[in-house]
This record gives sequence, C-alpha cells and structure tokens, in this order.
Amino acid sequence: MLPDDDVLLLTPGPTPIHPRAQAALGWPMRGHMDPEVFAYNDRIVADLRRLYGTGEGSFTSLLSGTGSLGMEAGLANLLEPGERVLVLSNGAFGERMVEMAARLGCDVHALRFEAGAPVDVDAAARAARSLRPALLAVVHGETSTGVLNPVPELGAVAREAGALFSVDAVTTVGMMPFAMDAWGIDYAYTGSQKCLSAPPGVAPVAFSARAMERVAQRRLPVATWYADALGMRRYWQPDEGGRQYHHTVPVQLHWALGEALAAALEEGLEARAERARRVGSAALAALQDLGFRAYVPAPHRLPTVLAVVPPSGLDEAAVRRSLRSEHGVTVAGGLGPTAGKVWRLGLMGENAREVHYRRFLDALGRVLGEAGLRERFDEVLEPALA
Ligand SMILES: *Cc1c(COP(=O)(O)O)cnc(C)c1O
Repeated sequence: MLPDDDVLLLTPGPTPIHPRAQAALGWPMRGHMDPEVFAYNDRIVADLRRLYGTGEGSFTSLLSGTGSLGMEAGLANLLEPGERVLVLSNGAFGERMVEMAARLGCDVHALRFEAGAPVDVDAAARAARSLRPALLAVVHGETSTGVLNPVPELGAVAREAGALFSVDAVTTVGMMPFAMDAWGIDYAYTGSQKCLSAPPGVAPVAFSARAMERVAQRRLPVATWYADALGMRRYWQPDEGGRQYHHTVPVQLHWALGEALAAALEEGLEARAERARRVGSAALAALQDLGFRAYVPAPHRLPTVLAVVPPSGLDEAAVRRSLRSEHGVTVAGGLGPTAGKVWRLGLMGENAREVHYRRFLDALGRVLGEAGLRERFDEVLEPALA
C-alpha cells in the first residue's frame, strides 16, 4: 500500500525531505568499508565542521540513530557513573536529558524554568558555581515550547564553572549560524530530519578537542558500546591502523544527509535563518487575525518552531484532524508542558517555505470557514520581500 504522496509535513520534525536528499535515497548500495563511502563520509565530516562552526581537532560524524541517540551519546561519553551533571531544563527535551543522565547513574541536578520562558543565565551561573558539575547541558531551541535559550551566554557560565558544555542543537543548527568553538561548546548534536530536511535515522554530532580528551581519559569504558566516540572515531578518522569497522552504517542515509547538508551550506545559514523568520512572521500575522496568539514573547521566540495558542472555544485537536484528513496538512499539537495548549508549526529546512504556508492557511480557512488568511500572509510577506 503506497502512502499518499501529497501530504504536507508542517510538523517541527520530521520535515519534508529536500529533493536532493530524496534523489540520493535511490543511489546504489555500497558497503560501509567501500572507498566511495569513505570519500563521501570525509566530505560530511568537513561540511559538519562548517555547519557547527568548529575547527581542526574536533570530531564530527554521524551516529546511526535519531536525535535522541545524539543526546544519549553525549551524556554517555562525557560522564561516568556518579559524576555530576547540571541540566538547565525548560521543556520536554530538557526533561529527556534528566532521565537519560539518571539512567546512566550520574549525579543529576536539574535547574528548571517555567515552560515558555528561557533559561535564566544568572540563576544558571549561581547553580553552576555552587554545584561545580562536570557537565552543563541545555537545549538550544526547546521544541516543546518554542523557546530559544541563551546558549552563547551559557557557554561563558560553563567555562567559569570549569564544566564541559553540551548543547542540543536539534532545532537550531542548519537553520541559523552556529558557532560551536566561539560559544565554548564541547558537544552538540542534531537529527537528520529536523533543520536539514533529510530522512530520519542519522544524528550529526560534533565533539570539541577538549571533549575527545575527556573521553580518552575515562576510567570506565562508555556504557553504550554503539555510540562510543573512540570506537566511532576509528571508523570515521583513519589512524595508523587505517579505517576500522565499527558497525554497518546506513549508507543510503549518509548519501541523503550529505546531499541535504551540502544544499544547506550552499544556500547559506544566514539566508536560511532569514527564510524561517520571514515565513514565520507572516504566518503568525495571519493566525493572529484568527485569534491565535504567540505562546512565547518575541525576544525568546525560536525562529524554527512557532508555538501558537488557539483561540478559546476552538477544538484544536478536531481542527488538526480535519486539516490532515480533508487537506493532507499535518501540524503538531503541544508536547509535555504544552500538551493540549498549543499548535507547533515547523519552520525548519523545507517546511519554512511560502508555498507550504499558503497551502496550510488555505486549508485552515476552509476548515474554519474564514476567508483571507492567505491574502494576509502575502500582505505581510510582500514588504519583507521588497
Ligand atoms: C526532535 C528532538 C529531539 C529528539 O530527536 P528524535 O530524532 O526524535 O530522536 C531532541 N531534542 C530536540 C530539541 C528535538 O526537537
């Protein structure tokens, strides 16, 4: 049974697959130790350095798994059982970190902030100073609420406390400039299906030189063999022993991710950020006319996930079901602290396109019996284009 080929994903991940990535899924099969695969992987390593803003000495690669494996791999590599981690949490993905670190047997401290509000830098600095964690961890763009956290300032907090700094860049890297080295980040990760618009299944990750030294000095081996950075590095970076087999990498997903990544760098990260901002503000204006309001105040609003509160009296779940069944448009409801309270619209990679938002607004207008939404969208878009 073939799925309907005209369904629009406006969800905050997965996003519609980039045409170059879609084409690459049909490229021929190669073995994971094939020279063509190694050459292709080398280009991915170099492109990921540009994407993350990190230089020589860092280790960039793909994990075979989704963004959550990226999250788990960072905690598992950079912490040993009993070691202290301070998680700055303001949503469902911050809580996922807390749970993962606890399962790894770490000494977990969570500093929590109100849903919809950003992490407070001064409170984080006070906690880091008194707790002296081995690792400070935060989500850059909290997908569950649509909040952008102040990562550059938190990098300074980590340095001052002598902690390694881990950043969940799942909804940010690839859709805005990212400066891992300049911001003092030791580990960052994303998932292929978010800002890069590749199929899900690989997690692009970046370890700083300092992070790799830390992994090399561990007393105990990394609890997860599969995502051990030293094992991974023996496959991705040849040493005296050449390239070593670690696990059978999903070659088709490497092709697809590599093409989506090249397309993102060709477009430029500034240009992509501007595209998300422009489409997002026009969509918000059109929705505001219908009585929706932004969940997060402007300065802390994540450009890649627009969380909007539906007007009271609207059966938001029923409207989303109609959008999907009658118009083939998928939008996400809330998650964690926002469950049942908001809609979350993706503005990552291929979903930050005017054509998609026009289709969504037309469909929503039909479901609600309201005209003029798309016109309002275009009206706000036009001056931005001029
Ligand atoms: C989607 C997401 C993840 C988890 O990624 P999966 O690919 O679903 O495993 C982690 N963090 C953030 C901020 C996300 O948006």
